[in-house]
Amino acid sequence: MQKKNRILSGVQPSGDLHLGNYLGAIKNFVTLQKKYECFFCVVDLHAITVWQDPTQLAKKTREVTAAFIASGVDPKDNVLFAQSQVPQHSQLAWIFNCIARMGWLSRMTQFKDKAGKDKENVSVGLFSYPTLMAADILIYLATHVPVGEDQKQHLELTRDIAQKFNNDFGTNLFPIAEPLIMGEATRVMSLRDGTKKMSKSDPSDYSRIMLSDDADGIVQKIRKAKTDPLPLPLGIDEAQTRPEALNLLTIFAALNDSTTIKVINDYAGKEFSSFKKDLADLTVEKITPISLEMKKLMEDRVYLDNIMKNGKEKAIAVAEPVLSQVYEIVGLAKT
Ligand code: ATP
Ligand code: MG
Repeated sequence: MQKKNRILSGVQPSGDLHLGNYLGAIKNFVTLQKKYECFFCVVDLHAITVWQDPTQLAKKTREVTAAFIASGVDPKDNVLFAQSQVPQHSQLAWIFNCIARMGWLSRMTQFKDKAGKDKENVSVGLFSYPTLMAADILIYLATHVPVGEDQKQHLELTRDIAQKFNNDFGTNLFPIAEPLIMGEATRVMSLRDGTKKMSKSDPSDYSRIMLSDDADGIVQKIRKAKTDPLPLPLGIDEAQTRPEALNLLTIFAALNDSTTIKVINDYAGKEFSSFKKDLADLTVEKITPISLEMKKLMEDRVYLDNIMKNGKEKAIAVAEPVLSQVYEIVGLAKT
């Protein structure tokens, strides 16, 4: 079957992959690969916008690649590679730095969250991150981008950049990419604080379930997950006022390919202890096979490096002609 639309999505090798990355991104890749031509990228250049230990970064990059494959992404049928292997991303990002406006980037909530009170001391890269993300997508002329809720604003910026570039230069080169926000768990929250997103960069290990956690670790973290003293909510309206409860119910639904409403109904008025036990069993059942497969793949470095080398070649074959066109449109010296 000819796949008409193209997807680009990326995951940072900035720490240990967690349930939010799986449910908000990687699990959806597995569904999307059947219908779309997919480029899945380990975005190591994004990772270094905050400090990364050089002895760990390359390993984490292989680990994200292993997670894609262990979760069911077919490495032969899709393009898997690391962002830094394809220099065209950075080359296009520079041009987009000259298209995007300061005001646009100043409104990005991820920058505000990540910079916190230390705005003067964070890297310039952390601020301009969204122009590199726009380049990641548009260098492949991707039409669709599966992301979690947290990346929606960056994708809107990508659309603005594409639109401005097309207008400024009187071209229709860049597609206006659509976000694909899929599944029940589009924003998995921290297990310690139901108002904060689950993140690789959260300092507390107990805030997230990692794809590398073993069964005991998963059971422990779910048992300790923050809740309130009430029994489980009776309906969605009540659940929406209780973020920790809603988060666990949503995770259950997403892992079970069910809906949050159905899970709320099944557990309405029950005690957290029994629900947490069922949630822990379900999480172990779904995550342990991925975790074991990841470990196995990580032992075969040659295999993973080969996949990324192949991906790099396929990615460059698409990216280079797009970059040449951009250079010509902008009037830059030929590459
Ligand atoms: P960091 O804290 O370093 O930014 P992260 O946990 O946010 O890491 P990313 O690599 O930035 O992970 O994101 C990879 C993908 O996972 C993106 O598509 C993002 O939208 C999705 N994602 C990240 N966190 C969550 C979450 N808590 N719930 C749902 N999707 C998420
Ligand atoms: Mg992130």
